[in-house]
Amino acid sequence: MSNGLENNNSSMYPETLDALVIGAGVTGIYQLYRLREAGINAKIFEAGGGVGGTWYWNRYPGARFDSESWTYGYSFSEELLQEWSWKEHFSGQPENEKYLNYVTDKFKLRDRICFNERIKAATFDNESNTWQVESETGRCVTTKYLIAAVGILSATHMPEIDGIQSFKGQSFHTSRWPHDPVDFSGKKVGVIGTGACAVQLIPHVAKECGHLTVFQRTPNFCAPLHNSEIDDETQQEIKSKYPEIFKRCNETIAGFIHEADPRSTFDLSEKEREEFYEDIWSQPGFKKWFGNFRDLMTNREANEIYCEFVRKKIRERVDDPVVAEMLCPKDHHFGAKRIPLETNYYESYNRENVRLVDVKNDSIQEILPNGLRTAKEHYELDIIIYATGFDAITGELTRMDIRGSAGKTIREHWKEGPKNYMGLQTSEFPNLFIENGAVFCNFTRCAEVTAEFVSNCIVHMKENNLNRIEATSEAEREWGDHSNHLIRNMLTSDVNSWFFGTNIPGKAQAFLFYAGGGPAYRSKCDEVAANNYDGFKLS
Ligand code: NAP
Repeated sequence: MSNGLENNNSSMYPETLDALVIGAGVTGIYQLYRLREAGINAKIFEAGGGVGGTWYWNRYPGARFDSESWTYGYSFSEELLQEWSWKEHFSGQPENEKYLNYVTDKFKLRDRICFNERIKAATFDNESNTWQVESETGRCVTTKYLIAAVGILSATHMPEIDGIQSFKGQSFHTSRWPHDPVDFSGKKVGVIGTGACAVQLIPHVAKECGHLTVFQRTPNFCAPLHNSEIDDETQQEIKSKYPEIFKRCNETIAGFIHEADPRSTFDLSEKEREEFYEDIWSQPGFKKWFGNFRDLMTNREANEIYCEFVRKKIRERVDDPVVAEMLCPKDHHFGAKRIPLETNYYESYNRENVRLVDVKNDSIQEILPNGLRTAKEHYELDIIIYATGFDAITGELTRMDIRGSAGKTIREHWKEGPKNYMGLQTSEFPNLFIENGAVFCNFTRCAEVTAEFVSNCIVHMKENNLNRIEATSEAEREWGDHSNHLIRNMLTSDVNSWFFGTNIPGKAQAFLFYAGGGPAYRSKCDEVAANNYDGFKLS
């Protein structure tokens, strides 16, 4: 035991740690590495049977990065960067899971990870300034710091549809996909939802199954991924340029290599604009979103011009004009919701074995033992896939019984909407760090920032004999006002989506990210640390 940790319930909570990290995903793995390097006695408790988080759970066919693989990997170890060779520019789930296992073993972290240990409850003890934590298996631990590295999209959302339990066929949620392959051959499959997961999954299922029915409530603007293998020459080039690649990612708002074009949509003639759109559309990844004109996300007229370009692209790819129109979004701006990147998604609807059903106008009434029923029709199905998303960002935390210094649960504390300071802490929950994607960002780029901030902070606490750190409610309020001000000027706030929690019935609505971008967030972290953790109360 280190740091003189003792607690009154030592017999009930015999195991003691300086830091308990929840989750062995991208953030948790790096957090554990940093803490161990700093001499902090830390462990991860992971609900799954392996490392990877998102890349452990989301093993549905077609799951892959939407970030360039070589911008998604960890940047902290030059040796790792040189050893690991990404095979594709946008790597698939099996490879991503393999990478995270490789990192875990290379840095000898596995023996500090407790698998199949889902945290059930955590209570803060004001006297000892420690957390008493219990897992679902009954394992009890006292820890000074509790670090929730639970990811932003981990709490599965199942829709509330009558009769779900009555279905006699196989059913899956994309984020709880089985380890053994699902046999689709000859089967009648239904996919509910057309978000980013469904868009990756549908082309694979369509090819393999007997018949596929896609139940779409709202179409999304999807853009071509343009994935390809990385040849040897490119591999060498990537490996020689990592410092430049990460420097660039650190300079862009969303942590990708793509940077907004400094011109306005209206600086160009119609012809020049069309050429520009064609150019970004032909390039891989999010270039066609983050590399667009600077006013794409702030000017409705500019955005609508691009929307029409994208709708034209959809119409060109879908043979049946009625189906094409069903796939063209008309109720939101391009980029106001997360853009799914796709390969052969739209072509899937040209297949004879695929049917698109509009469940906005003909809503799903009931799941039946042999399929589902909309208001107008009965669909016989052998397999139902729920691609219905997540209770994003806060869901995993509010599902645990986490009680802070005032005895309230985090769910009660956030009843009117989640409050936080820098996305990292919430008042009344001392020594709890929340690392679930404060910024909308190429995930690992920003996860490294928060993991480094938290480990540096814990070291600072240790070196200064401090035991308790808590965001002040004033700092929390100011941060909330600042964040809301930033998002108000963006078209993102015009539409309901998981960004605001509106996909979950009864969830308080609030923008769940920091919209100021990676560089501003990093500066804030540096500034706060340099100013003795300004905005936090340390004692
Ligand atoms: P999502 O984008 O929230 O999509 C959920 C879908 O389910 C929506 O089409 C939604 O329709 C539909 N839905 C929900 N309840 C329904 C109901 N009762 N009846 C009919 N339809 C219903 O979820 P997701 O596809 O899981 O993606 C979530 C996020 O994960 C993405 O935005 C992205 O950030 C991330 N993701 C990342 C990657 C990657 O980086 N490679 C890949 C996949 C996903 P409505 O739109 O009408 O609500």
